[in-house]
Amino acid sequence: MEKCLICNQNDANQTGSHIVPHFLVKRIYNEEGESKRDKELGFAIDENDSKMFFGRAILPEKLEDIYGPVDEQLLEQNNIDGIVDNFFCDTCEKKLAIIESEYSKSLKIISPPNTSYQTNKISFLGFIFWTSVIWRISIMPNSGFKLKDKDEKKLQRILSKYLNIDINSIVIDVEDSDLLDIGYKILRAPNFSDTFPTFQYGHPFSERPYFLVIDEYIIYLYFKKSHLKGMINDFFGSYPLQEMSKFNTPFQIEEIYSVDFNDYKAIIDKMVKFFAEKKISKLVSKLDLLHQRLLPNQGRKMDLRLKEKILKNIANSDVKPGKRNLENELKIMQETIMEFYQVKE
Ligand SMILES: [Zn+2]
Repeated sequence: MEKCLICNQNDANQTGSHIVPHFLVKRIYNEEGESKRDKELGFAIDENDSKMFFGRAILPEKLEDIYGPVDEQLLEQNNIDGIVDNFFCDTCEKKLAIIESEYSKSLKIISPPNTSYQTNKISFLGFIFWTSVIWRISIMPNSGFKLKDKDEKKLQRILSKYLNIDINSIVIDVEDSDLLDIGYKILRAPNFSDTFPTFQYGHPFSERPYFLVIDEYIIYLYFKKSHLKGMINDFFGSYPLQEMSKFNTPFQIEEIYSVDFNDYKAIIDKMVKFFAEKKISKLVSKLDLLHQRLLPNQGRKMDLRLKEKILKNIANSDVKPGKRNLENELKIMQETIMEFYQVKE
């Protein structure tokens, strides 16, 4: 058996491990009214496409609403986002669970918009919680987010050194060079998730800082304090709020900056628009390529009217959201092109 990715010592005997802790995931992914494990349902956004995942215990009827008829292939491809087997040992899993259960209490603590609040009284707790989440997203294959190798290794060292079954026994080594330069800023729109859909996203390219959106939280992780003074990345319009929030180090009690619903929604809307535009521009270049292959002597670009028809047909397709993939898009392209050039089958 493979060794546990945290301690590198014990066998990775744990199954059903959540990459993002269940108390957060359930706010993003749950089927309406469901709060049990294995009932997750929702979208994970990555740079290329929107992927959809579903939990192990979701009823087939519910799946059919989303995917249409459920076939073997669909079940096999079911990559339950954020649940992995044999990554960790049962001891490390327990240690993570203890940190998570302690940190989850802070969900109830909130402050008015544009003020900061302390999430708990234990310094290091917020730091170890968020770095454990970010590290797990990074080691998860195909999560769309990856820390630099060096940074991923640093977080693994920190986790294996400081995670503890007894939270009160965690003693921080103030000379630990892994901890000296690292820190993070965090925004939250408290209880935004109760009213609006949320999602999980890790910026695939930004490293100074790393940028992640998880439910109603936005996290900026810095591996060097000097990166605070680096090039400004607007991160979907969140920069002014990021600037207001405190730089948390492992040695202090975590402070979160509260964000107004409207401000948070503006950031989310900007992200969604960005992904939609990206998807369309990818599709348009695919269409031009298709045109060049089909009609090699008629210029490099597809007829604009045809292009618009295809995009419209894709957008208005009555295909279930879970089956809106490349295969389905190709089918629509083919049908629209044949209709446009009046090709008979
Ligand atoms: Zn372990």
